[in-house]
Amino acid sequence: MRGFGAPLGICLPVLAAAAPRTATRAAAELRTFLLIAVISILMTITGCSPVSAATRHIVLLFDERVELPGLSLLEAEFVHTLRSDSPDPIEVYREAMDLSRFSSDSYKVLLRDFLRAKYADKKVDVAVAIMAPALDFLMAYGNLIFPETPIVFCGLDRGQLGTRSLTPNTFGVLIKREFAPTLELALRLHPETERVVVVSGTSDFDQELLAQAQNDFRPYENRVSFSYLSDLSLPQLLAKLSRLPSRDIVLIITVFQDGSGQPFVPHDVVERVSGAASVPVYGFLDQYIGRGIVGGSLYSTTKHGADTARMVLRLLTGAAMPAHLAEVSSNKVIFDWRQMLRWDISERGLPPGSEIYFRELSVWQRYSWQIAFVGAVVLIQAGLISILLHEHRRRRMAEVQSRQRMAELAHINRFSMAGELTASIAHEINQPLGSILTNAETAQSMLRSSHPDIEELKDIVDDILRDDRRASEVIRRMRSLLKKAPFEPQHIDLNELVRETVEFLSALAVGREVKLSSMISPAALPIVGDRVQLQQVILNLVVNAIDAMADTPSDDRAISIRTSRVEKFAEMAVSDHGPGIPEDRLKEVFEPFVTSKPKGMGMGLSIARTIVEAHDGQISASNEPGWGAVFRIKLPISRHPSVG
Ligand code: ADP
Repeated sequence: MRGFGAPLGICLPVLAAAAPRTATRAAAELRTFLLIAVISILMTITGCSPVSAATRHIVLLFDERVELPGLSLLEAEFVHTLRSDSPDPIEVYREAMDLSRFSSDSYKVLLRDFLRAKYADKKVDVAVAIMAPALDFLMAYGNLIFPETPIVFCGLDRGQLGTRSLTPNTFGVLIKREFAPTLELALRLHPETERVVVVSGTSDFDQELLAQAQNDFRPYENRVSFSYLSDLSLPQLLAKLSRLPSRDIVLIITVFQDGSGQPFVPHDVVERVSGAASVPVYGFLDQYIGRGIVGGSLYSTTKHGADTARMVLRLLTGAAMPAHLAEVSSNKVIFDWRQMLRWDISERGLPPGSEIYFRELSVWQRYSWQIAFVGAVVLIQAGLISILLHEHRRRRMAEVQSRQRMAELAHINRFSMAGELTASIAHEINQPLGSILTNAETAQSMLRSSHPDIEELKDIVDDILRDDRRASEVIRRMRSLLKKAPFEPQHIDLNELVRETVEFLSALAVGREVKLSSMISPAALPIVGDRVQLQQVILNLVVNAIDAMADTPSDDRAISIRTSRVEKFAEMAVSDHGPGIPEDRLKEVFEPFVTSKPKGMGMGLSIARTIVEAHDGQISASNEPGWGAVFRIKLPISRHPSVG
């Protein structure tokens, strides 16, 4: 309840000091007290503390400039963890000593006095030393600058800490620097390696790490040879690295300073070394990933920063410290996908649990959802199309089959009708044959005379020829009616067809004492259809009409065939003077096997309907007052002119 207790603590003495006390005054004071208490409670509930919680002050002492990439990463993670996990506000001060560039003793003394004066009036809760030089500085002057302030250090490994004797108020997070795991990894990925080229710098820090690495590599000296490059200037180093034989690999430690004494930011050196080297380069720090190294078992600076912040937090909250020193491994096996591609390193060779950074996702990985969706849509569409095509084919097949069956049935029907037509056909053929015989006999007797009349003979021969043609025409029509032909649509004129069929039927009509008349539309009625089949429809309708009038007095027997154009249709109506069709059977007569005749098959109208519908037309039956039955067929007018 820090922040809540403070105002009450201030208010109560103020109230207590009020004098002299009267009853009314005491009541007023009580009211004021209650009011203040309520306001304080409300402010606490709403989070507006009247006085802020005690701010904690932390000083970060860097050996170098804070902007060095490693330090800035460590610092960022340290501050982030501290601020997000601390219950109190945190104020962080940063002091960068820049010791690799300014390292004289007089500078350090001046720095000491400067910091002492700077923080004289500031209660610092924890001073944090980052890297060994900063720890040494605080060990020497910490008590003067930040008296009785606990010190936490980081950035050193146990070797670097050495034999320093730490005060009871000093705590530290030790780095577990390991160089062998990266070497082990590199040798596993490049089993043909003969030599390992180790690159490092000449600064104290560079040399310290190099010494440790050399120590770690000693057990490997019987497997591969080692070449240590630290005394070259950067340009010389790069030139050398660019000409390494293929069985070499490079391990880079740190280069804060090259062999010529030139200072560098190690990250830049890593980038240039990786760019120049003719063989793969491995490293030890996670900050170097993305700067050209293939990878390795890498130490994580950010994790080290977070571990240090957690130790500072324990001190701030007064939690028990399990030990003065914490040593945690912060290594992770990390690889750069781009470098793996560059050096042809297979993912299968990596140890399990390795992390791969900068992996370029394949189109499938990037758009798997979209590709799957589009693929599914295409598949469904393809499936639908194939189903539709299949259905279409089936329909076409069914249509072809039904046409074939219809043609066969129609053929049978024509045969049966031919029986009915036999008498009239015989009559039609007999007539010209009789005339031919008479004419031939006349010609024969004329030829016997001494002076035959040539002109007369010519006329007789013409008559014989005409009659012969007439008989041939009857036979031709009969043959065409009886021939078995496939459905053969062609441009025809319905008027022509009706005329021809009426002529064909005239003998039958005469024989059955029926008056057959036709009223042909003056305008042509072009349609597309099968001539034989449509003729069969007309024949069926007329023969049925003749049959229907069997009981009609012969004077009344009449059939009228009319053609006309109704909108986009060519229409033909066949009316008779028969009894008509009972109203309830008007539709039924088109069904197969419906007949009222003793020897009927009941197929004629059914076939007629099938033929008309195959021509996209309609057929209907009705009764007409004053007449008998009327059958109408409607066929679509064709846009092309009829060819007869
Ligand atoms: P079928 O002639 O072998 O009987 P159809 O299918 O041609 O077979 O005719 C079916 C039936 O329709 C006929 O039996 C008859 O009862 C009736 N029908 C057909 N045309 C007429 C018509 N013009 N007048 C009266 N009834 C008819």
